Amino acid sequence: MVKSMAAKHAIWPRENDIIFNLSERAQRAEKVTGKDNVINATIGALMDDDGKLITMESVYKEYKELPNGEIGAYASLAGQPDYIESVKKIFFREYMPDAHIRVVASPGGSGAIKLALWNYTNIGDEILTSDWFWSPYVSIAEEIDRKVVTYKLFNEGNSFNLTSFKENFLRIADKQERIFTIINTPGHNPTGYSVSDDEWDEILDLSKEVAKDESKKIMIFVDAAYIDFAGDDKVIRKFFRKFSNLPENILVMVGFSMSKGFTAYGMRMGAVIGITSDENIAEEFHYSCVHSCRANWSNCNRGAMAILSNIVKDQEKFNLYEEEKKIYKEMLSVRAKAFVDESEKIGLEILPYKAGFFISIPCDNPKELCEELTKDNVYTIPLKMGLRFAVCAVSESKCKIAPKIIKNAMEYLESK
Ligand code: PLP
Repeated sequence: MVKSMAAKHAIWPRENDIIFNLSERAQRAEKVTGKDNVINATIGALMDDDGKLITMESVYKEYKELPNGEIGAYASLAGQPDYIESVKKIFFREYMPDAHIRVVASPGGSGAIKLALWNYTNIGDEILTSDWFWSPYVSIAEEIDRKVVTYKLFNEGNSFNLTSFKENFLRIADKQERIFTIINTPGHNPTGYSVSDDEWDEILDLSKEVAKDESKKIMIFVDAAYIDFAGDDKVIRKFFRKFSNLPENILVMVGFSMSKGFTAYGMRMGAVIGITSDENIAEEFHYSCVHSCRANWSNCNRGAMAILSNIVKDQEKFNLYEEEKKIYKEMLSVRAKAFVDESEKIGLEILPYKAGFFISIPCDNPKELCEELTKDNVYTIPLKMGLRFAVCAVSESKCKIAPKIIKNAMEYLESK
């Protein structure tokens, strides 16, 4: 009897995405008890106080004014030339590294991760990221026979755990030719942590030390999916300059995404940016990635590229976009502050939040706690080591009351 038709490598556990599952449960609860009585902190997108998806007017007006041909035609495989230039401009701003830089279009930041992982690691390689991490890293890596391993993100002082990072970095360097690490900053998902400039110095010093062995190839992938909601646009970009004049065997890659910064989640537009001191390595990056584009999805969303290019090229449009984004950035930071302040006031332990869409609450029994909270109509996402609360999707007033409900549920479970 035929039990399965899929090839062996394509058979995975039959699990539904827990995030979408919980989000559906929250929506059902909203229908039964009314929106005001439910806290739906499962969604990884900016929602207004009524739970409606925020879509930026300056972005969608631009889209609707595009000629059909500018939406419907094929785009160039690497991305339209003006998109490539616009990505560089809007991403680096005044902090362009002194390096050879190439940009290749990808379907969102997810596509950028795939391009980088596929082209810069070998089958069986370990990929290093932090123990709090965005779980699709594992799906992307395991699909192509790579394995995600982790270091502890935080030390006892609740800042970047360089000791754990170094230990794992050196362990991998000892056994692999390639050391590929993903650093999701600024505004890390799920904790809201941002690596500081001093911490970047330490990471780069370690990389340079290992790079003295010329047989080693070091890839630092900066997943910057939340950069547009991570604080002062200038301050948070300063660390890009540190990617100037690095040794030739250190390649920095950045995952750029329009999902959050342009509220364009479903448009699937982003780019992988390669930063190297060697022109030949930059060219190789371009051709390796473009080959993968052709082999996987061909070209990307031309209309979305045009939105970005048109906004970046036109100062007036750019100002409007920046003004509009500022409103939502402010909304997000007010919500996060309400959650952080209240947690501190009532003694709920949370991980160090600096910016971004999420706050994490460490606990020993995430699934149980998440389930318990649904009884109070609070919906969160259980992770391996805690709960993820999406401040991006919850009003300020609800962000203020949620910590107490979470603390009570924790205490109730402890007392059982
Ligand atoms: N990286 C992180 C940490 C994310 O949370 C996301 C989206 O949720 C992405 C990358 C990629 O998003 P997209 O593929 O929509 O650009």
